[in-house]
Amino acid sequence: MARDRQDAADAELLTGRSRGHLEPWRDEAGECLLHRAVIEPLRALRARAAREGICLCVASGFRSFDRQLRIWNAKARGERPVLDDRGSPWDWAALADRERIHAILRWSALPGASRHHWGTDLDVWDPVAAGAGYRLRLETDEYGPGGAFRRLAAWLEELSSTATGFVRPYPGWGGGVAAEPWHLSFLPLAGDYQRRLTPELLRAVLAGADLELKAAVLAELEEIHARYVRVPPLHTAGG
Ligand SMILES: [Zn+2]
Repeated sequence: MARDRQDAADAELLTGRSRGHLEPWRDEAGECLLHRAVIEPLRALRARAAREGICLCVASGFRSFDRQLRIWNAKARGERPVLDDRGSPWDWAALADRERIHAILRWSALPGASRHHWGTDLDVWDPVAAGAGYRLRLETDEYGPGGAFRRLAAWLEELSSTATGFVRPYPGWGGGVAAEPWHLSFLPLAGDYQRRLTPELLRAVLAGADLELKAAVLAELEEIHARYVRVPPLHTAGG
């Protein structure tokens, strides 16, 4: 019985439906919620960055299942544009359900399967390098040559995961999730969470959710899990 309760609590944490493990995080750019065990390692990471003249701030931390569900449903209904490889909006009416699913998954996680559900993952930027009034887009050109965050991105690339615990799970496009050079994951926790977020656990949660495209999602949940959830391999830049 105690085992069942523990499994249920784990399932809630893994799919963004609990907040008991979270604590507020504040920095120059604002505030969000993060896993309490990530707060100290992130402070240490910020201190490292500061020594290089980088003001590492969090743009986005924990995101709940319900928030991800609203994002997914708005895109699935065509209320929010979904972009193709070249950055143009798809002709939504022309796509079959299966094509819609993969078009959304390129940019947005399936509710229940976002790494942001865990509180161990965060998107980072440098508001000082950006300058006053800058509107963060979280697009790759901002982190590439000539972008406001090129120094931050280069520094993250050299980062030792052994020393800091942080890795970048989406360094480049590999057929699943688009490149997200700004996304950091605290591997000592997230590695374990990723292993425990199985297709079976996800199926049980999604079956009871008010999810658009649900039948098509459940029909190919194994493939979706392999391509977008089980991120291969976790990059540990710098070792
Ligand atoms: Zn992210």
